Amino acid sequence: MTDRLGRSIDYLRISVTDRCNLRCAYCMPPDGVPALRHGEILRYEEILRVVRILSKHGIRHLRITGGEPMARRGCLDLVRSLRGIPGILSVAMTSNGALLDGRIGEAAEAGLTGLNLSLDTLNRETYAALTRGGDVEAVKRTLEQAVAHGIPTKLNAIPMRGINEGELTELAGLAKRLPVCVRFIELMPIGCAGDLVPIPLPEVVARLTEAFGPLPEDTAIHGKGPAAYVRPEGFQGSVGFISALSHEFCERCNRVRLTADGMLKLCLNHARGLDLREMLRSGAPDGEIESAMCAAIAEKPARHNFQERIADRERRRMNEIGG
Ligand code: SAM
Ligand code: SF4
Repeated sequence: MTDRLGRSIDYLRISVTDRCNLRCAYCMPPDGVPALRHGEILRYEEILRVVRILSKHGIRHLRITGGEPMARRGCLDLVRSLRGIPGILSVAMTSNGALLDGRIGEAAEAGLTGLNLSLDTLNRETYAALTRGGDVEAVKRTLEQAVAHGIPTKLNAIPMRGINEGELTELAGLAKRLPVCVRFIELMPIGCAGDLVPIPLPEVVARLTEAFGPLPEDTAIHGKGPAAYVRPEGFQGSVGFISALSHEFCERCNRVRLTADGMLKLCLNHARGLDLREMLRSGAPDGEIESAMCAAIAEKPARHNFQERIADRERRRMNEIGG
């Protein structure tokens, strides 16, 4: 499927829940947020129906996210069902990893093709403070299990002043010891990021160069996203840098999102989208849903416009959108 700007859209991110077992400082307020009611969340059959329709129009790659996807019961069954849809080539997951500890074998067996683990710090106390109660040891175990099962794994870390500033090289060093990609992601002015100060990625690059020497570009394909990868000498994996803000990747954007409450969302920073939940529950036939989705995707916004004041700016938090 191509949009009006000729961008080929083959990637759908599916948020299966707005709930989470953690409350990361940049994502959620300290006391959490009122969760969506059960009936407001798309049922798994509804998600499968949407994907079946979109797969006929070129959606090939899926990512399950949240909230914390593993906080929703049956999430790995959903992975298995999605893998069974003709045309779907990959089903990956973005998770904080805690609830996957001990379940990686099951995830591999369900057909999970990739795992992105959010891990901003390796320090027990810093992790507990940043996530408001999380246990970093569980995430480390999940990481080791995922590597042992051969699931392609990426780590997402957001460099933040005064929080993980002192351990950026240690985080990157995980890609030396393990065949994983460690990706440094620019903090986005969305959700609860307000009080936190991002460390500019050029500064991260400078620190890694100091520690590991030159950072030759890794041109191997690492996914469909907007990351640039390097592989320092002696590394098994690579290190990526994702800067949604300072380097726009909108002209190459290949993705749309399905929120937990059934909105087909066309751009991270634009609130506008297509309310699929009502259509799915109104008895609309597949053809009608299909036409509505294709028309909406054709009108995908040209740019995220994070740095501007835009009328339909997204006000939802990341736990609702899925990142
Ligand atoms: N709970 C899962 C997890 O943490 O991986 C999946 C959902 S979480 C919303 C998806 C990603 O969004 C995480 O990697 C998280 O670090 C990122 N994220 C949340 N708020 C962010 C922000 N303000 N700026 C940049 N990334 C953010
Ligand atoms: Fe939960 Fe992920 Fe948000 Fe952290 S970033 S609070 S783990 S949804």
